[in-house]
Amino acid sequence: MYDVQKVREQFPILHQEVNGHPLVYLDNSATSQKPVHVIEALESYYKGYNSNVHRGVHTLGSRATDGYEGARDTVQSFINAKHREEIIFTRGTTTALNMIASSFGRANLSEGDEIVLTPMEHHSNIIPWQQTAKATGAVLKYIPLQPDGTISLSDVEATITERTRIVSMMHVSNVLGTINPVKEVGEIAHANGAIMVVDGAQSAPHKKVDVQELNCDFFAFSAHKMCGPTGIGALYGKKELLEEMEPFEFGGEMIDEVGLYESTWKELPYKFEGGTPIIAGAIGLAAAIDYLEELGLHNVEAHEKMLVRYAMERLREHEDVDVYGPPADERAGILTFNIKGVHPHDVATVLDSQGVAVRAGHHCARPLMNWLECTATARASFYLYNTESDVDAFVDALVTAKEYFGDVYAE
Ligand code: PMP
Repeated sequence: MYDVQKVREQFPILHQEVNGHPLVYLDNSATSQKPVHVIEALESYYKGYNSNVHRGVHTLGSRATDGYEGARDTVQSFINAKHREEIIFTRGTTTALNMIASSFGRANLSEGDEIVLTPMEHHSNIIPWQQTAKATGAVLKYIPLQPDGTISLSDVEATITERTRIVSMMHVSNVLGTINPVKEVGEIAHANGAIMVVDGAQSAPHKKVDVQELNCDFFAFSAHKMCGPTGIGALYGKKELLEEMEPFEFGGEMIDEVGLYESTWKELPYKFEGGTPIIAGAIGLAAAIDYLEELGLHNVEAHEKMLVRYAMERLREHEDVDVYGPPADERAGILTFNIKGVHPHDVATVLDSQGVAVRAGHHCARPLMNWLECTATARASFYLYNTESDVDAFVDALVTAKEYFGDVYAE
């Protein structure tokens, strides 16, 4: 049995009032809250063994190195990568995707080659490819969306061609909650000689990911969306691809020999980790993974599915609320909506006055907003500590918002 009340006890931030109401935090797709286990791991590093890694022979240096390199092993087993050197610590998903687009993309694309994306991508999985396309003469192609915000494999087959070199796609949409069939898309990409890049920012925190089972070539995610600290994430890449790639950043830590005019790089993964690494971040990420694994990602996923199903059921009573994306059973715990005729920023402001934190805006997905034919939406996103009473508080606050704006517009 998943005991959500026990889970909540581990998150000190949840136990506060906001604007005179108990906090209902439903902005988890933007960033998640942190359990005591992660906060204590960071505190114990800074209080007990803060030190730079890899070069110190002193005791604190070795402890910090063990913590940092141990975190790499933890990430390796978390996503079931074959080799530990396939895990590169980055600042987050954005940096990881930029690394692939810049380093792999620029070296492997030429005039007329195709990069295939979807219109639902986060800006961080669009703009790096636009820049790479401009630099190389490659062209961007988009798999069209179905009316419910999913993609069909027949459209994938029709879009990917023998000129396609790279397919890059989000595993789970941060707006619609759509779960993309990235394994099957990867098979089509590979059959055409292309590589498969997966943006896992919204999947790794919520469901079990196995990169060998997905057989993707790259996979990127961020710690802060999965109970870990900000400023760290990971890039997984197949060893043979990472080995042929040039470093993304140059400087200390990533070099083998340095001369006045020429230098050489360390082996994997270090050639991609220039400068003092994100030591505390990696230790915090490993603690977050330990925490998630103890809860069990299958339990987390089932809990969130239950919440989104319940929320969508409750919203069905409200015809003036438009909910975007696939049916409850086919989506992750994300619910994007608009109250007809009311700007989502106004909705989010009224919800905040009731203690309910949701996000309003374009969610870094402007092309998707164009597809939805709206400039912005409001979004409630659930995580492992949310409850059915959070959903009730959210719906009650929406009713307050509707009444308030009904009165305002009537005046
Ligand atoms: N991709 C998706 C699907 C996301 O939801 C986000 C964060 N909102 C990102 C990429 C970027 O992640 P980060 O800001 O942690 O680099």
